[in-house]
Parts: sequence; C-alpha cells; structure tokens
Amino acid sequence: MTSRKIMLLGDIGVGKSSIVQRLVFDRFNMVYKPTIGVDVYRYEVPASPGREAMSLIVWDTDGDLRDLIFRHVYMKAASAAMIVGDLTRRETLDTMLHVAKSFRDELPGRHISFLLNKCDLLSAPDAAEIPKELGGDRRDVVRTSAKTGYNVQQAFIEAADAILRRGH
Ligand code: GDP
Ligand code: MG
Repeated sequence: MTSRKIMLLGDIGVGKSSIVQRLVFDRFNMVYKPTIGVDVYRYEVPASPGREAMSLIVWDTDGDLRDLIFRHVYMKAASAAMIVGDLTRRETLDTMLHVAKSFRDELPGRHISFLLNKCDLLSAPDAAEIPKELGGDRRDVVRTSAKTGYNVQQAFIEAADAILRRGH
C-alpha cells in the first residue's frame, strides 16, 4: 500500500497531539500531555472512487522545536504538512503563516493544509479574527475540533488526495 509522511506543525498547545489522537483512536483528553520530541502514528485512509487505500504516517512534533525542526532529519521525505493553529489565540494563527513559509523553503512543492482548531470554543462560526492569508473560501484551510471530531478525518483525507494529485 502507498504510504506518505505528513508533518503536524504549529505552536505548543494548539491541539496537534489531540488531532492525531482523534484521527487514529477517536478519543479526546482534556489533560495536557506535552509531546517530547516526536510521536509517529499510522492512519489508513480508506479507498474512495478514484483513490486506492493509502497510509499516512503522521509525525506529531514538539512545538518547542520551532525553526530548528526544518533543519532536522525529522523533515526528511515529508510529503505534506498539516499546520495547526488555535482559533482562540491569534498569535498561533500568525505562527501558521511563518511555519508554512519555512516548510515551503525547505520542501518546495509539497502540500500544506491549514487547520484552524478548537472551533468548538467559538460562540459563532466566524467569531475568530484570522489573518487575511487564511481567509476566503480555500480548500486547504479547514476549521477543526479535536474535541468533537469536527472535520478531523476529512482534513486528512483531503490532504491524502492533494498529495496524490501532486505526485509527491
Ligand atoms: P499540542 O501541544 O499542539 O500537541 O496540543 P495538545 O493536543 O496537547 O492540546 C493542548 C490542549 O488543548 C489540551 O488541553 C487539549 O485538551 C486542548 N485541545 C486540543 N484540541 C482541542 C479542541 O479542538 N477543542 C478544545 N476545546 N480543546 C482542545
Ligand atoms: Mg503535542
């Protein structure tokens, strides 16, 4: 089966580990457990019309690595990045843009998905102030909630489709 490596990137506490736990085990834990270094998970993307089943190897990184990660062997042979921000903390959304630039510089032409997480905490769907670069009607920008599971699986399935379209 085809398998592709995906990096989960973004500030500490935005929900990277929670998203992958929801994706792989369908569970959610409010207790914060820091990721030390990196945890690696496998998610089998089911076959769909036009796409065979494939595996995503999801690398859940420690936000503390910041820019160092881009020079690290962790990044080797990554096909895509899922860059996560916390809709309730504007500075984490600005970090997403910065991280995207570093990832593109290091691995040009790879797919990037932007996950605006913790959407369950907003009273209104558009209550958050988001950077204009992440606004509009973009397929690669998805609101998610690791807590409720909203859009989590869909975001990874869309990333898998995008990876195959790009051929990386
Ligand atoms: P990471 O540092 O990016 O891996 O963030 P974690 O996954 O460890 O999450 C940090 C905190 O945010 C934890 O207390 C989680 O329970 C909480 N959290 C993560 N995702 C969500 C979400 O979608 N909604 C809410 N309400 N809390 C979340
Ligand atoms: Mg973590």
